[in-house]
Amino acid sequence: MSYDPDNIFAKILRGEIPCKKVHEDDHVLAFHDINPQAPTHILVIPKGAYTDMDDFTQNASDGEIASLFRAVGSIARSVGAAESGYRILSNCGANAHQEVPHLHIHVFAGRRLGAMLAKTDG
Ligand code: 5GP
Repeated sequence: MSYDPDNIFAKILRGEIPCKKVHEDDHVLAFHDINPQAPTHILVIPKGAYTDMDDFTQNASDGEIASLFRAVGSIARSVGAAESGYRILSNCGANAHQEVPHLHIHVFAGRRLGAMLAKTDG
């Protein structure tokens, strides 16, 4: 799938749509999800134009990959989630029900998060 520069996270990266920013560095932006599924629900995205984890792990530089995962850990610590626990999730493609075609890692925390996967395919 080619990258769609009009996807909602591309617009957030360009500042065309506001977000509640949590973290920003050279390679990464993180912000609160607009429809949180847990008391803490943060989206961590690379600034580069990658559609999903498949694209990112094939085409991103080692620096971009390291920055994204370092950011996930540091954000989880900074919001106090590291001690009580948190979940990260990245939907990749149709079977995973990915809605926004710009790679994002969800960080969920702040309550017991229950079973890992829903039993239905929704
Ligand atoms: P996906 O299903 O692609 O893994 O997750 C997309 C996520 O993006 C959803 O949790 C949805 O609530 C979030 N989202 C969609 N549009 C916006 C937006 O304009 N701003 C923010 N902050 N989150 C959004």
